[in-house]
Amino acid sequence: MSSSVEARHDHAAKLPRDEHFDVAVVGAGVVGCAVARRFAIEGAKVAVLEQAADIVDGASKANSAILHTGFDAPPNSVEQSCIEAGYNEFLQIHERLGLPILTCGALVLAWNETQESALDGLIKKAHRNGVSDVEPLSRQQILEREPNLSRSVRAGFQVPREYVIDPWTTPYLYLLQAIDQGAQVFRSTSVRGGSLEADGWRLETSRGPLSCRLAINCAGLYGDLLERALLGSAEFRIRPRKGQFVVYDKAAHGLTGSILLPVPSKTTKGVVVCPTIFGNLLVGPTAEEQKSREDASVERSTLASLMEEGERILPQLKRATVTATYAGLRPASDQSDYAIEYRDDRSYCRAGGIRSTGLSSALGVASLVYEHYAHEEHRQTSKPEVSWPNALPIAEAARRDWQTPGNGGIVCHCELVSRREIEEALRGPLGVKSLAGLKRRTRATMGRCQGFYCSAEIAEMTARHFENPLAQPGRSE
Ligand SMILES: Cc1cc2nc3c(=O)[nH]c(=O)nc-3n(C[C@H](O)[C@H](O)[C@H](O)COP(=O)(O)OP(=O)(O)OC[C@H]3O[C@@H](n4cnc5c(N)ncnc54)[C@H](O)[C@@H]3O)c2cc1C
Repeated sequence: MSSSVEARHDHAAKLPRDEHFDVAVVGAGVVGCAVARRFAIEGAKVAVLEQAADIVDGASKANSAILHTGFDAPPNSVEQSCIEAGYNEFLQIHERLGLPILTCGALVLAWNETQESALDGLIKKAHRNGVSDVEPLSRQQILEREPNLSRSVRAGFQVPREYVIDPWTTPYLYLLQAIDQGAQVFRSTSVRGGSLEADGWRLETSRGPLSCRLAINCAGLYGDLLERALLGSAEFRIRPRKGQFVVYDKAAHGLTGSILLPVPSKTTKGVVVCPTIFGNLLVGPTAEEQKSREDASVERSTLASLMEEGERILPQLKRATVTATYAGLRPASDQSDYAIEYRDDRSYCRAGGIRSTGLSSALGVASLVYEHYAHEEHRQTSKPEVSWPNALPIAEAARRDWQTPGNGGIVCHCELVSRREIEEALRGPLGVKSLAGLKRRTRATMGRCQGFYCSAEIAEMTARHFENPLAQPGRSE
């Protein structure tokens, strides 16, 4: 990466006062990264403004990482069509971006009579949503496929194309591709307001003004606040919904070969038992409405009931070890569908309220937003040639860097993260600036010991890179 390219994305850099962007994407969660990618690929001049030190630091940092088919989405909803489009595009591009996929499929399971009676309607809904390979399974077929499952399962159906992906490398590569197509990314840059002038927006940010023709609000949990700051009022309200998870150690990964889904309710997809691309097993999430947009704490009693639920589904989980727990906040809203809106009169677009399915739908949301824009006769006639960046793979099944010569040795032994992987994560236009960012890029400190053994070495390696350097043993400054 050339130093001039690095400088353009430097945290300390002032925003370019003399440049006028076609679009400013506010928020670098998975939706903002996908939107930036689409516009940049189409030849637009794109700026991305993210308030956090690293990308993917909001709702997108903590999800179940399922690539949904949309089998249970409300038919004819914007959500359903974005999931379908996003799912299909992901399958088209993931190999070229080197993005891993666990083609495990899902089973929807009924554990009581009421749930069993809902199965037929769910299968019909899946077929209406175009997921035509959803098929019923008898109790015996389910147990043959998943022999570790509790014998109390009654019936279910399979969703063969429901997969698991990498929730962090995916948006990272979307944004890296946008950068390769000329997008500029400004992290640690909060948009506070702005004024609409003759040639578009003059956005007011924590790093000074930035001008653009179209402002795209991808601010996730803060989407309504940003809308109010820009337009004077907000036509939707974010209602954060917390989801807590328990992460089981890698030894539990083999207990199921499928994503195990419950029969969903109106408000939640319910508690899922799900393999991860990193070789763990997840149980969660809960669905808890709350006021706070920040509070992603976990509660002991809730985690205990999640574990109980996991053990009810897979009895052998009783003997499995828990490696970690976490919670994510869904940017749900007061609207029953995604809150996507395009305001020509205000040169403004909102991709908001992308609550439980945004990892799957992001590419679809991006295409939808771009189509609105292109209708406004902004479609670029000459598109740049598309480049396809890659990242060092961190999925469990991939050939990892520790298996390759010249990696500098292993730093994090639990997750087998090499020195070279950490150095690579610190470099380039999206070089990480926080421990949280490093975890998402490499998985360092996320294994059994949770950083007990490698933190000191990581503190030393990252000292000159992080906005808030980690404490180093033996140093008091
Ligand atoms: C528990 C849970 C489980 C889930 N499971 C799945 C799943 O299995 N599959 C799936 O497809 N989806 C899943 N999701 C949904 C998915 O994670 C979300 O839909 C998605 O992350 C929303 O992304 P976003 O980009 O809209 O929001 P965010 O990720 O919140 O991004 C918004 C960004 O905007 C930034 N920002 C906000 N305000 C400003 C400002 N004023 N200036 C600059 N920057 C700003 C924030 O810092 C943030 O980085 C799950 C979500 C949760 C919480």
